[in-house]
Amino acid sequence: MKKLLCIFALMAMAACGKDDPEPTPSGSIDVTGVSVAPTEVSLVAGETAQLTATVAPGNADDKSVRWSVAPEGIVTVSSTGSVTAVATGQATITVTTTDGNKTATATVTVIDTELHSDLKDGQVLLYKKSTRPKEVPLVFMGDGFTADHMAPDGKYMRVMSARIDAVFKVEPFKTYEDYFTVYIVGVVSNKEGVSIGGELTVDTALGVSLGFVQDNEAILRYANKTPVTGDSGAIIVISNTMNDQQMMCWGLPGDYWKGGGLAVIGMNIDYNENLSARNDYNATLMHEIGHAFGWLGDEYVNDPGRGPTADENNTLNFMHESGRYHNISMTDDPAEVPWAHLIGHPNYSYVGMYEGAEYLGKGRWRSEQNSIMRDQWTSYYFNAISRELIVKKIMKIAGEEYSFEKFVEKDRP
Ligand SMILES: [Zn+2]
Repeated sequence: MKKLLCIFALMAMAACGKDDPEPTPSGSIDVTGVSVAPTEVSLVAGETAQLTATVAPGNADDKSVRWSVAPEGIVTVSSTGSVTAVATGQATITVTTTDGNKTATATVTVIDTELHSDLKDGQVLLYKKSTRPKEVPLVFMGDGFTADHMAPDGKYMRVMSARIDAVFKVEPFKTYEDYFTVYIVGVVSNKEGVSIGGELTVDTALGVSLGFVQDNEAILRYANKTPVTGDSGAIIVISNTMNDQQMMCWGLPGDYWKGGGLAVIGMNIDYNENLSARNDYNATLMHEIGHAFGWLGDEYVNDPGRGPTADENNTLNFMHESGRYHNISMTDDPAEVPWAHLIGHPNYSYVGMYEGAEYLGKGRWRSEQNSIMRDQWTSYYFNAISRELIVKKIMKIAGEEYSFEKFVEKDRP
């Protein structure tokens, strides 16, 4: 009993710090409030984090606090605010002042690296972790998958892991794989499949309708459950399409979430899960990731006989100025194309000027005959300028300086 009292006395002293514990003659200084930092923490099971409570005013007589957690079983919290992640889920840590019972709370989310039971709605799984100081995050989630699909060996995880693995089978993602952290977010829809034609006819969580429609608010709400704090690479939504619906896919180059774009890919794993990674649908996946991550433009032609209007030139100028579509040129002047530095380089003798890109047969040039941004059906290959643009983006998000020499050294066509 005596020993216990000693410990309490020491703790109280530690909590009081250097402040004068003596009451002032005019009366005691009461606690008026408390705050906690950080207020949101994400941890992998086993990791720890330190929460700090600040009691106001700074000269309050009794600055001691106690920590509690609810619900139990997800994290533990020590008497000094050290939090240890135990199991997947979300818990609220409350700090309460001894004097006045003032409170502040922090939310701790524990993510797992392995799925032991059904993936829950909103649960985040860490699929792959970057080995670099600053991660390049990709966030995968699905639409039109129901609770029946969420088992560890169920359709949701099969689709996600097949598509994630496919990303790292194509260059430059393959060579730079160790830069990427990949999260899977569980998204449980009420109905299976997705809507078509732009209308919402199927009750799904992310409101994807094949026809370039998605519920942005819902997608961002799920993305924000991940612990991504820096820039994002891209969000990739895989919609549970049926039969031939998988042809409807789109990618948004630009700042959709934390500086990264959005790709929406429709795929039915039952339709093609026995095919190798190098199949049409994975090439489509990579085409849309080319838009969303690399901010690349389409290199294919819909209108062979037509050149650009003034408006279309203005639009491309704007895209170039905002860091997009540098795989497409408005000129065939080898000194002016965005890939001028590759022309004549001994490693890139295959790079030149090919007319026809961005849907137009005339007045638009691309750098090589083929690339995944031109032909998603037979090509599983990003052309050299696209690889360079993707590597530049990886370096930017990872906070590393880009060097053309280093790119060339590591580049694998
Ligand atoms: Zn496209």
